[in-house]
Amino acid sequence: RACARPADTDAVPCGTLGVVDTSHVEADLDLTQTLFTEEQIKARLAEMARQIEADYEGRDVLLVGVLKGAVMVMADLSRELNRHVEIDWMAVSSYAGTKSSGVVRILKDLDTDLDGRHVLIVEDIIDTGLTLSWLVANLKSRGPASVEIATLLRKPEALEMPVDVRYVGFDIPNAFVIGYGLDYDEKYRNLRSIGTLAKHMYS
Ligand code: 5GP
Repeated sequence: RACARPADTDAVPCGTLGVVDTSHVEADLDLTQTLFTEEQIKARLAEMARQIEADYEGRDVLLVGVLKGAVMVMADLSRELNRHVEIDWMAVSSYAGTKSSGVVRILKDLDTDLDGRHVLIVEDIIDTGLTLSWLVANLKSRGPASVEIATLLRKPEALEMPVDVRYVGFDIPNAFVIGYGLDYDEKYRNLRSIGTLAKHMYS
């Protein structure tokens, strides 16, 4: 099988990562490469859960998920936690295709009053950090006791706004990734693993 590594993922050694299993979705196996398998994601989320349990001992936690990408992370991370949590969701929009506009719009707000709450934002990925830095400022203005961030993925090279992230699953190269909640044009969210999408698919 030809190696279809996107041009901007030089840090990812081609040919050593296998291929994202998209077989239950559609036959585009040549277009993607696995960054993280289902097992690797699960193992890392379990480690993050242990850290979160320790840090929030004796305190109520409200997990705030950012739709739609964080659905899988929220589902798996929250179930790894051996404690009670509340879960609420926000939907914000800052992207068209793969380009960041830097403009954040609330599409769905929280149902929960944040006054005095310990809020842990659960994110799929931090790219430029623009969305998250806006979100943190927005949530902090609602009077919570604390606001922290847990993200499965982060692209350090893409960061434009400094964001203080307490829990990071994996730092990844500056490539467009799909799967495990992450989409390209609303496709690929239901892949069990995370992989890169070949650049010619979206440019
Ligand atoms: P940021 O504001 O940090 O640049 O981007 C945050 C949002 O952009 C993420 O929640 C996600 O929806 C989208 N995003 C950023 N990078 C990627 C990527 O590599 N793949 C996908 N599918 N979405 C991304």
